[in-house]
Amino acid sequence: MTRTMKIKYAIYFFTLCLMTSFSLFIVDELLEAHTDYRDNQLNLYKIDRAKEISEAFQAALQAHRLKRLSLIDPQITRAQCLAADRAARERITRIREHLDDEVARQLGVRQKIAALSMISLMEQLLDNDNLQLSQVNNTNANLFNINSAYYISQTSKSYYRYTYDTRMVDTDSFMFLEAIRLNNRLNMSLTELSDQIIDVNVRPLVRKDAYLKSIQLTGVLNALSTRLIFMKINYDDGQITNIVNALLAQVSAERLQQITHGLYTAIDTHQPYPTALISRYVDDVSGLSQALYQRSFELETLASRHKIYDSQTTIYGMIALAGLVVLLFILPALVFCTSINRWLTKTHNNIVRLSRGEINIDRNDAFYSQELIAISDAIQQLRQYQLDKVSLESEKQLLIKELEASSFLDPLTNIYNRRKFFLECQLLGDGSYPQAFCLIDIDNFKQLNDSYGHDVGDRALVAFGHLLQRAFRASDIFCRYGGEEFAVLLGNCSLDNARDIMEQLRARTHRLTLNLADGRQVRFTTSCGIAPVNAFTALQAAIKQADEALYFCKKNGKDRVSVHTQAGYI
Ligand code: GH3
Ligand code: MG
Ligand code: MG
Repeated sequence: MTRTMKIKYAIYFFTLCLMTSFSLFIVDELLEAHTDYRDNQLNLYKIDRAKEISEAFQAALQAHRLKRLSLIDPQITRAQCLAADRAARERITRIREHLDDEVARQLGVRQKIAALSMISLMEQLLDNDNLQLSQVNNTNANLFNINSAYYISQTSKSYYRYTYDTRMVDTDSFMFLEAIRLNNRLNMSLTELSDQIIDVNVRPLVRKDAYLKSIQLTGVLNALSTRLIFMKINYDDGQITNIVNALLAQVSAERLQQITHGLYTAIDTHQPYPTALISRYVDDVSGLSQALYQRSFELETLASRHKIYDSQTTIYGMIALAGLVVLLFILPALVFCTSINRWLTKTHNNIVRLSRGEINIDRNDAFYSQELIAISDAIQQLRQYQLDKVSLESEKQLLIKELEASSFLDPLTNIYNRRKFFLECQLLGDGSYPQAFCLIDIDNFKQLNDSYGHDVGDRALVAFGHLLQRAFRASDIFCRYGGEEFAVLLGNCSLDNARDIMEQLRARTHRLTLNLADGRQVRFTTSCGIAPVNAFTALQAAIKQADEALYFCKKNGKDRVSVHTQAGYI
């Protein structure tokens, strides 16, 4: 492994580690945000249920107070009492609806039991109060009152069990629970206070004890100031501050002293306490308490919604971040794939072109890996081979041409040889015939060789070849037929013309002189036999006839021209 490869793999490994830890971080954050989201959703649900149960309890107590007050206050009608009863029962029904499905699952079985016992006790309280309204008289009033007090105290116990078992997510939610508990405490005390005063007015015999009990209750109300101040400090909310301040004024020592003072006076003077005063006090405090927990509910709902929104934002943010990470992975891969694809297409095209013998291929430099570089190099190599092949091919063609030329020429005289002569004759169309075939033989050539040497004989052959080249037209075909014999095919001429041409050649041969180094001059003569040729197929016969005519010349003294005719040699 090379040094650069090592660095490359180290970078890959490092990037992988970075991406993995980043992904783990995202997953962790996502899980946390999801848990927060679920917890806060559940919290919102718990808040709603707690408020529902508190309001039902408050409505039951309000109905109870109204019914009790109607015993001594003729202005309170039966219809008002029944409306309050109905309102309370409606709220109870709403709890029951929720109990049947989600409460038990979402909150746990202890709360379900507490809520169920509350429902039953509240309904019994309302029923008992209704019974008291219809059947009360001096003898049994006390008994019914005791029953109502029992239901109220038992409902309250269940209520405390319910709220203390309701675990909220944080301190903000604790404040809401505190607000509804405080509301309950105030409502309980106020109900008891009004009950005592009503008892006093209904049954004068127990007036003193009841008054003392009422005075004790005012003390209980004053003790709630600390909890109210605690709420004010913790909430730091304008509305809460105003409500708590108003409540603090209502449970202040001065305000309660006014009530206790009135009660003491009533004991001393044996006069009934004006119920209108206490019922207004109860309504005021109850109204403020309700406003307090209502505001607390609003704040708590808002806070929970904010927390849900925050966790949702985190979830979406993390999903977007995860998308970004994936994109960071995918983008380079996409770029890489596109480049490699382009490289492969070019490589394919280049191979196809090379296989067709084309040498103009696209430049396609490899990248990334050693293997691809090797393929690119191999293709370049292939191109080089192709180039070499092309140049070899042209060399071969050149050689073939040279070889062909040499195979057609006589190496000594450099004129056509017998093979080429026949090929050329064959190539002539039928229209080119008739022709005259002439066979020329140098006379006494053996003697010439013997006298001057073989090389001089060669020089004579070369000189005669040159003479032939000069003597004939382009359409005439001539060659060295073999040894010191030459053949000529003359076109477009009669036998007489052929004889003339050959005679002229013979005359020119006479003038041909070879100058030797030692000063001697060599001359030679030729004999020529002529025969007519009417077609290429008749050439062999004509050659034979010309040869006979030549033989005739030789026999008759050489250095002459003879034509073979039907009538003989002329
Ligand atoms: P004739 O007049 O009857 O034709 O007699 P001739 O001597 O010319 O004929 P012959 O057939 O007896 O001899 C031909 C000679 O030509 C024999 C051979 O050595 C010679 N010869 C053939 N080819 C060459 C060649 O290429 N160079 C040389 N120097 N001599 C050749
Ligand atoms: Mg011969
Ligand atoms: Mg000869």
